[in-house]
Amino acid sequence: MTNMYIPRLHPDTIEEVKQRADIVDVISEHVVLRKRGKDFVGLCPFHSEKTPSFTVSQTKQMYYCFGCQAAGNAIKFIMDLEKRSFAEVVLDLARRYQVSVRTLEPEQRQELQRQLSLREQLYEVLAAAAQFYQHALRYSGDKALQYLEQVRKLRQDTIQQFGLGYAPAGWETLYRYLVEDKRYPVQLVEKAGLIKPRKEGGGYYDVFRDRLIIPIHDVLGRVIAFGGRSLGDEQPKYLNSPETEVFFKGKTLFALDKAKAAISQMNQAVVVEGYFDAIALHAAGINNVVASLGTALSIEQVRQILRYTESKQLVLNFDADKAGTNAAERAIGEIAELAYKGEVQLKILNLPDGKDADEYLQGRNPEDYRELLANAPLWLDWQIQQIIKDRDLKQAADFQQVSGQMVKLLKNIANSDTRNYYISYCAEILSLGDTRLIQLRVENLVTQIAPASTPRKSTPVIKQQPVAAQESVASQAGSLLKMAEALLLQIYLHYPEYRQAIVDVLEERDLQFSLSHHRFLWRQILEISSGIEHDLISTVQDRCLEFPEEMKSVTHLFHLNEKTQKDIISHHDKLIQAATACMERVIREKRCRHFWELLDQTDPEAEPQKWQSYYDLFYAEKQRLQELERQRQFSIADLL
Ligand SMILES: [Zn+2]
Repeated sequence: MTNMYIPRLHPDTIEEVKQRADIVDVISEHVVLRKRGKDFVGLCPFHSEKTPSFTVSQTKQMYYCFGCQAAGNAIKFIMDLEKRSFAEVVLDLARRYQVSVRTLEPEQRQELQRQLSLREQLYEVLAAAAQFYQHALRYSGDKALQYLEQVRKLRQDTIQQFGLGYAPAGWETLYRYLVEDKRYPVQLVEKAGLIKPRKEGGGYYDVFRDRLIIPIHDVLGRVIAFGGRSLGDEQPKYLNSPETEVFFKGKTLFALDKAKAAISQMNQAVVVEGYFDAIALHAAGINNVVASLGTALSIEQVRQILRYTESKQLVLNFDADKAGTNAAERAIGEIAELAYKGEVQLKILNLPDGKDADEYLQGRNPEDYRELLANAPLWLDWQIQQIIKDRDLKQAADFQQVSGQMVKLLKNIANSDTRNYYISYCAEILSLGDTRLIQLRVENLVTQIAPASTPRKSTPVIKQQPVAAQESVASQAGSLLKMAEALLLQIYLHYPEYRQAIVDVLEERDLQFSLSHHRFLWRQILEISSGIEHDLISTVQDRCLEFPEEMKSVTHLFHLNEKTQKDIISHHDKLIQAATACMERVIREKRCRHFWELLDQTDPEAEPQKWQSYYDLFYAEKQRLQELERQRQFSIADLL
């Protein structure tokens, strides 16, 4: 927003504005407030929250947020919310509450009046234009009216409610009406985005010509811009007003002024793509609907909608077929971030047969739409559906791709409860109906999404992943684990005949190397060892020359002392078993602790199913740990 130069205001004016602009009144225009005791509460517009901690005191004329500590009076509220200067806000409030404005220097009054009223004047000229278009629809807009009534099947009351209009075909009909008849200054009409100067020969022409006109209102119901739809083949099909002093595309949502009460009441907001989807839904009595203005949803737009819902439930209704998944992904834009953090409960509604809401409603009962709305999948469920769509999980390549994409998705989920829920869900899908496999898949996914055990192909600088941190995960078993992993790698490197056994047992138990330098070496081995049986060590060594830093911590593995050689020759089976048991134990212990924590955080009475599933997971880990204890007939430390 441009900052206007505003002369210094007389203190009396500021004082009077403070007196007249009641804080509850001012804030209510932006936040749904409920009375609680002698104060009012609502959802804080300055931070994301699910339960109201934003408190407004009428007696103190102050607000305070217990969540983010935002605080102040009515003027401060508007300043922070709309990012405007103190003087601008005072002037706006002065106008709304009929406070006469005095400046410190009387001679500045005229300049002040001019600036003060620019926005007001823009609203006025835009309202006059809207009336002109509405009038034109009735008297010269047969074609447009026909389109509305016959193609869009809209009733008169809907056309009225949305103030739909028609821009006549001439080049300067609106220009003549506003500038010549109504005597609005030509610069003002231009600043409102309604006319443009001709490139040659001087004069102006109308921005909208021979188009159906859809006025765009701000949240307070003032006309701030127009959308124009062509009635023939003219391109573009939809044309919007340019951005102006009062119209910002990324901050505006179509029909929010008409939808906000219903959004608040139904505790849910629906976002559709097109103006006519929103209009058709409102006409069908589904009023908690807004439309994006053809751009990806911005965080600001979403926060604006969410101010009206306590549940933060947002349903995105996309055309399923047109540009399919990609369009949806694009439209989700920045808000995926909010969804991963759980700040918005995002659902996706794809209408059957790839219809948009307007097409879908024609000839159907609005209840059908409501039902689809009620059953719309949560965004993450929808994402998972997209991942497995057209895949055959019995094919290794598809399976790999699907599980890789799942891991990527799961990793981004910030809330651990939600993440665990989806881990189980994905594990179920990946086990293809074989319930015995679910647990294994869960473990596999957990290991892959845990940051400490995620191989980072793009950043092989293992020095940056401190070994110390990883060992702390392994707790007391740390040094034992280090020994076990090193032993396994040594056996693999030096004894080709046991390689298959090692690969098998790692795969069977779904184990990975926990220490980063071991993981690094194992990756190198896997990448080159197919086919080359004999010269593995020298090939790995060559390869490791590229990574001298990582080499330092693994070079000792390329040599075997005599005692170890003897041990391996006489007990290779037991050693492999003991080493892998040790590796598994560390992972299991970690998971056991993880599920125990989840169990601890879950109220068995409030969420019995969740509690039970955590208990089952915890118990399964515990049992496996006991089994491993029995398997470890002797410790590796004794052997080496
Ligand atoms: Zn807050």
